[in-house]
Amino acid sequence: PPTQDADSAIRLTDSDAALARLSAVRKKYLEDPFIPFLVPRAAFQTPRPPLINIGTFVRATAIDDLVFQWLQTSLNQGIRSQIISLGAGSDTRFWRIATGPYKDALETYIELDFPDITSKKAMAIRKSKDLSAILGEVNVSLGGTGLTSTNYHLLPVDLRLPPEATLANHLSSAILSSTLPTLLLFECVLVYMSPEASSAILQWFVEFFSGGETAPLGSIVYEMFGLQDAFGRVMVENLKARNVSLPGAAPYSDIHSLPTRFTNVGFTAAHALTLKEIRKSYISATELERIAHLELVDEVEELELVLNHYAITWGLCAPTEALRTAWGG
Ligand code: SAM
Repeated sequence: PPTQDADSAIRLTDSDAALARLSAVRKKYLEDPFIPFLVPRAAFQTPRPPLINIGTFVRATAIDDLVFQWLQTSLNQGIRSQIISLGAGSDTRFWRIATGPYKDALETYIELDFPDITSKKAMAIRKSKDLSAILGEVNVSLGGTGLTSTNYHLLPVDLRLPPEATLANHLSSAILSSTLPTLLLFECVLVYMSPEASSAILQWFVEFFSGGETAPLGSIVYEMFGLQDAFGRVMVENLKARNVSLPGAAPYSDIHSLPTRFTNVGFTAAHALTLKEIRKSYISATELERIAHLELVDEVEELELVLNHYAITWGLCAPTEALRTAWGG
């Protein structure tokens, strides 16, 4: 079993993600008025290197696009969606959706993470008027490790434990409906747990939604992959030096293996793209042109190597062709 130290090293990866986002916002790659409230001493944090800023920009833009497409489908269908972010860390997506053009498409937003992380986030939310005003009335729950409001729930869960003992207890029918379209987000989290534990989570949701019979289930995974090659091994060593291991990357040596994480557990469709492909073919020319002027980038080759080791995989569990067409299968 993982040691305490290994767990705190995993939790620290949330600070990395939040600092990277803050940096990309400060350098004008991204817009996010909420991230400074979730980063301790935000004003004193130094920017990250251009390579990290660009990676953060590509990742965030691509995931936002997929999430917004899902919410647009909700609006088109006249039905609200639920979003569950697993290993949500200091993510601000709920606040950005709740104040943006898709707010009426959102029924519920649920965030899960280790209790240490959810306690800190619950505290930061209560301390910040900007964050809490958007939630309306807020109730602190589970001894300060959780927080609930009308459409936002923050819950402490160790995702490695059997879902029957964790998700089943936390996601009661009062919080999660089995008849509304639901999108699961795993942004840089499954790599830290065993492939068996991630499959068990996906499987639990597939069963909760009866294989998509009661409502379409979608999921987006952002993750490192292909770590078996020379550059990948350097990435692994760098993280190992910080006591972080990546058991979840083992089954995914190339881009073609990534969709199997969904199709193996009953999703009806799945696709994967590397950040390198996304930057080249999916980010608009206007945006690429805009960010090209933000900072000088010397390490273009290294940038492509890094972007080639991260991918976004998305899957849909919907039993009929009509649902698959509507929900982007
Ligand atoms: N998803 C956020 C983002 O992209 O900004 C945070 C990403 S951070 C790299 C990984 C997050 O996953 C951390 O907040 C960490 O605590 C959480 N995490 C990792 N393993 C977990 C587990 N077994 N149970 C719950 N949360 C976990």
